[in-house]
Amino acid sequence: MQGLMMEMPLLVSSLLHHAARHHGDTEIVSRRIEGDIHRYTYAECERRSRRLADAFTRQGVGIGERIATLAWNGYRHMEMYYAVGGMGAVIHTINPRLHPEQIAWIVNHAGDTHLAFDLTFLPIIEAIAEHCPNVRSWIAMVDEDRQPASAKLANLVNYERLLAGGSEAYRWPELDERSAVGLCYTSGTTGNPKGAMYTHRSTVLHAYGAALPDAMGASARDCILPVVPMFHVNAWGLPYTCPLVGAKIVLPGAQLDGKSLYELFESEGVTYSAGVPTVWLGLLQYVKQAGVRFSTFKRTVIGGSACPPAMIRTFEDDYGVDVIHAWGMTEMSPLGTLCRLQNKHLAQPREARRKLLEKQGHVVFGVDMKIVDDQGSDLAWDGKTFGNLLVRGPWVMREYFRGEGGDPLKYDADGRGWFPTGDVATIDADGYMQITDRSKDVIKSGGEWISSIDLENLAMAHPAVANAAVIGVAHPKWDERPLLVVVKKPGAEVTREELLAFYEGKIAKWWMPDDVQFVDSLPVGATGKILKTRLREQFHDYRLPGV
Ligand code: AMP
Repeated sequence: MQGLMMEMPLLVSSLLHHAARHHGDTEIVSRRIEGDIHRYTYAECERRSRRLADAFTRQGVGIGERIATLAWNGYRHMEMYYAVGGMGAVIHTINPRLHPEQIAWIVNHAGDTHLAFDLTFLPIIEAIAEHCPNVRSWIAMVDEDRQPASAKLANLVNYERLLAGGSEAYRWPELDERSAVGLCYTSGTTGNPKGAMYTHRSTVLHAYGAALPDAMGASARDCILPVVPMFHVNAWGLPYTCPLVGAKIVLPGAQLDGKSLYELFESEGVTYSAGVPTVWLGLLQYVKQAGVRFSTFKRTVIGGSACPPAMIRTFEDDYGVDVIHAWGMTEMSPLGTLCRLQNKHLAQPREARRKLLEKQGHVVFGVDMKIVDDQGSDLAWDGKTFGNLLVRGPWVMREYFRGEGGDPLKYDADGRGWFPTGDVATIDADGYMQITDRSKDVIKSGGEWISSIDLENLAMAHPAVANAAVIGVAHPKWDERPLLVVVKKPGAEVTREELLAFYEGKIAKWWMPDDVQFVDSLPVGATGKILKTRLREQFHDYRLPGV
């Protein structure tokens, strides 16, 4: 027997429509590339998104067609998300920090037919245009009177002019909820990037999941500033979660330095934020140097790479900001786990609670996970045994766009497919997961594994260390041994011996790094994560002492 409830597909257009109807005067504030602050409401955002959708329809854009963006976090980018996705086309967000050749490759692989960009990226567009024959128009997201002229671009269009050609009477179509809405390529440290193609259904379910109190815990009382870019897994879904709950949203544009972020936090009353650890290094450095405090900022989600415990403590102890450590990946929309306490933890001593909160956390309903050995057998949830982390769920990808790489799933005895994350992790008896390492980064010493993340976290707790990375380097007897690479804080002094002494008593003796090297900076990839591959190349000719 069938149930008797209404059939309403889960569509992203309904998120913005809901916000426009029920939180119509809630603000979306953006720092524009033009330099000023722009503010309008969800109601206005929906009206402009409808016009844009209508304009694209008039241009002949059809269902499933890919339209790309190369843009910072801003209101026009938000309109692109909803206009393109809402009309049944696919919003393909490209990371502008990739090499232009790689961007052109991605545009062609995706088959993008239009590309909207912030003016910052005009030089990239000029460099790639002749290599992207399928792109029918390059859309400059800027006021009409600031529209650039470019001799290199035959089909350069102005965003505002395009939008003005559409009608706000446009109605969002009722699509199949399984149809594609968004495309995001993985940063791909090896080989070509691969595309994760989200559906309307997966995106709306992810937005529901993200909003839950023990996930991001977003509400209509929050003012949320995603520092994580809208080109990095849809700013972790916040452009969808904020309208779902009716939160005010603040989009920081291109100015992501500590001072600019702090000023925006204060002027807009930001309560909540999200970003990778490296952006918070800049913000924390600024507030410390300037001797200022946050007046409204209360919580931030940190993920994308392991959040050093020292950062969690600084936020909490010095600034009263709770850190929610989160883990996920492009192939998971991205949220997998977030670290929040359960009722039974509340009575535990403070230090035990803090230790727990350093983990990557507990799954959100909608994601299941397990750890397995190399043969695929389940491993114990004891918080110590580590293995390959597999996931499944309605917002986890089942295959890459255009079938790249074949079937990525691993099948269990019941024939259920699991996505292999490429991460190595432990899970404790309460279901809290902790990432030991990316499987490519774990250091294999004498047949045993050493977690580079653990060693980095400890180094980051030293007062003279600004940033740290640990890589495995070749060793004739042990295969690999850990090398600690350190960036010192400006003006701070510390020696190799002092850093190694700092590890004593905190780790097993055989985990002790064999050497320390000091560098001015660490190589950072397109999504703000330390590029271990580049670092390994940098230390390719390095030999450990005595080897
Ligand atoms: P991406 O798809 O580029 O966002 O990368 C996903 C990968 O980032 C994951 O598979 C992890 O290796 C890593 N990652 C994400 N969040 C965390 C975290 N909180 N701790 C450690 N690694 C993380």
